[in-house]
Amino acid sequence: MLRSVILAASRSSQVERLVATAPYTRDVVRRFVAGAATDDALRATRGLVDDGLAVTLDHLGEDTVRPEQATATRDEYLKLLKMLGDAGLTPAAEVSVKLSALGQMFDEQLAYDNARAICAAADAAGTTVTLDMEDHTTTDSTLEVLSRLRKDFPSTGAVLQAYLRRTESDCRELSSAGSRVRLCKGAYKEPESVAYQSAREVDKSYVRCMNILMSGDGYPMLATHDPRMIAIGEDRARWFDRGPERFEFQMLYGIRPEEQARLAGEGHTVRTYVPYGDEWYGYLMRRLAERPANLVFFGRALISKK
Ligand SMILES: Cc1cc2nc3c(=O)[nH]c(=O)nc-3n(C[C@H](O)[C@H](O)[C@H](O)COP(=O)(O)OP(=O)(O)OC[C@H]3O[C@@H](n4cnc5c(N)ncnc54)[C@H](O)[C@@H]3O)c2cc1C
Repeated sequence: MLRSVILAASRSSQVERLVATAPYTRDVVRRFVAGAATDDALRATRGLVDDGLAVTLDHLGEDTVRPEQATATRDEYLKLLKMLGDAGLTPAAEVSVKLSALGQMFDEQLAYDNARAICAAADAAGTTVTLDMEDHTTTDSTLEVLSRLRKDFPSTGAVLQAYLRRTESDCRELSSAGSRVRLCKGAYKEPESVAYQSAREVDKSYVRCMNILMSGDGYPMLATHDPRMIAIGEDRARWFDRGPERFEFQMLYGIRPEEQARLAGEGHTVRTYVPYGDEWYGYLMRRLAERPANLVFFGRALISKK
């Protein structure tokens, strides 16, 4: 119930105005977002890489409705990738891209062209791209764009969401050699017709999907903060003899950093998803929806007059 309310608020421009102008919002945002500028993203990446973590960078922004906005997002990624390459931060750092920020909502071909330019820049910088997955109305389009991109850039990664009923079958499709797949639970509000609704059903689906990916021939990227899913991931890695070159754990910037360090210390590849940029609102609201404890922290900051 609380999750539904917060996810509804994530689409409200009135709530966005209220949140954005509250006195201590910036402090809360800083916990989950690396900063507004490309330099901030680079600085955070350098720190994480020095600590033995891999990184994927997300320039915040989604649901773009104008071609100029989509072009600006593409250009930001091109600039970022050039800077990462010049700073010697590739291949440790790759980028995560939302097709909706590249024009998917009004022109799928434009989104493809923009994503292709980003894949080419990533390739030139010695790294790669993962396409984030958004709400279920975009899944087919995103997987279609992925399959077109993979013809020229085979390491382009996909994201599959365990809460969707279709995902076991998508995992089978995408578990072939060379295929990089990030498995997450899923962060959007989805109807029962397409998605499991209870946490227990989602967790069971996550484990089934993980089994398919870890026993397959691709490169699984297990994106979760859930101690139970991580323990099962470690178990499957032993069972299927997957070392740090053959799968990775992924977690979000600012969430469970000690656990990220522990897994890396045990020899696993761990990648931190680092968001940066001005458009943090939708991202932050999804993080709040996932964990009511974050909401208490945020609520205190919102009402503070200091
Ligand atoms: C790298 C990465 C990329 C992602 N990309 C996408 C994407 O493209 N599309 C998409 O829909 N979603 C994406 N997500 C979000 C994902 O779908 C989930 O919404 C999110 O990760 C929360 O699910 P969870 O598996 O971490 O566990 P949850 O079910 O949220 O939590 C389970 C348990 O994990 C622990 N935990 C969770 N959060 C915290 C916390 N803040 N602090 C301490 N412990 C915590 C707690 O023990 C909790 O009980 C991504 C997540 C990650 C990590």
